[in-house]
Amino acid sequence: TPRVFSGIQPSGNLHLGNYLGALKRFVDTQNAGGFQTVYCMVDLHAITVWQDPEKLRHNTRELTAGFIAAGIDPEKSILINQSQVPEHAQLAWIFNCVARMGWMGRMTQWKDKAGKDAEAASLGLFAYPSLMAADILIYHATHVPVGEDQKQHIELTRDIAAKFNHDYGVDFFPMTEPVIEGAATRVMSLRDGTKKMSKSDPSDASRINMTDDADAIAKKIRKAKTDPEPLPESLEGLKDRPDARNLVNIYAALADMTPEAVVAEYAGAQFGTFKPALADLAVARLAPISSEMKRLMADPAEIDRILARGALQAREITAPILKKTYEIVGMISSA
Ligand code: ATP
Ligand code: MG
Repeated sequence: TPRVFSGIQPSGNLHLGNYLGALKRFVDTQNAGGFQTVYCMVDLHAITVWQDPEKLRHNTRELTAGFIAAGIDPEKSILINQSQVPEHAQLAWIFNCVARMGWMGRMTQWKDKAGKDAEAASLGLFAYPSLMAADILIYHATHVPVGEDQKQHIELTRDIAAKFNHDYGVDFFPMTEPVIEGAATRVMSLRDGTKKMSKSDPSDASRINMTDDADAIAKKIRKAKTDPEPLPESLEGLKDRPDARNLVNIYAALADMTPEAVVAEYAGAQFGTFKPALADLAVARLAPISSEMKRLMADPAEIDRILARGALQAREITAPILKKTYEIVGMISSA
């Protein structure tokens, strides 16, 4: 069976964009069948920018609780924490020697996150896409559900696989497809419809966190940036209205509707009408998940057991693939 891999960083503030663009689709993929699904808390990615150690541990457990609360079933999917499966980092080193500096330097996430002072960014932040390629290819995964922002990194994963195969004259690593689907592949900030909603945005009002209560969700949506025009008759009318378009997309994804259908339903409505409807919908969808997350977080030892078991299952796949990679590269086998 073909394999699906994807991950989320345990860097806190799991938000609506992560849910609609990634987590919800991980659940759909798991439940659709036809794939072996591997989902990962990518803590080694999180530390490419400073993380307080105690908070990182907490965030990793909370993210795991979020996966399970959203519908990931550890009996159906392999649910892991990246650092507990050492082959990810081991393959990443090999890929660091395959990938070129120039490739990394062109990544928009690198440019965005390094900001003006690239000299002060960590080496890990620069090499992030190489570790991500290893995360995927250590499972020989062919399909990766992600948000739109990760498309470039998946393309780089293909470049790394192709160069490895070419340099060593093998047909070992498969070509990976990004799976970017639905109305919410790029949920935008509630404060700025041209910027993606992010965990790392310093403004809490910019995002709806999965742990926000009903009041906080309603308040953030009420205060979301919009323009004074009512909703148009068709999607065309939202072309130059990124903030309005974002709220329509969020509504569509939460309601499992197309954006066209949402606009048809609310044609001519003011935001004074649309925003409360959106807030009710968001609360209805998110509240059960956040209360289940809280319940699961009451027993962190159980979460740790789930991750430990996932790591054992994962290593049955990753250890042989790393062994074969080492052989191809020319390392002496220890066994
Ligand atoms: P950070 O700001 O720390 O990078 P993030 O919000 O981008 O955090 P990640 O852990 O980097 O979250 O990404 C996890 C998954 O969520 C990826 O598949 C990514 O594409 C997806 N994702 C992140 N932000 C959004 C968004 N605004 N809309 C849709 N998908 C998103
Ligand atoms: Mg990100």
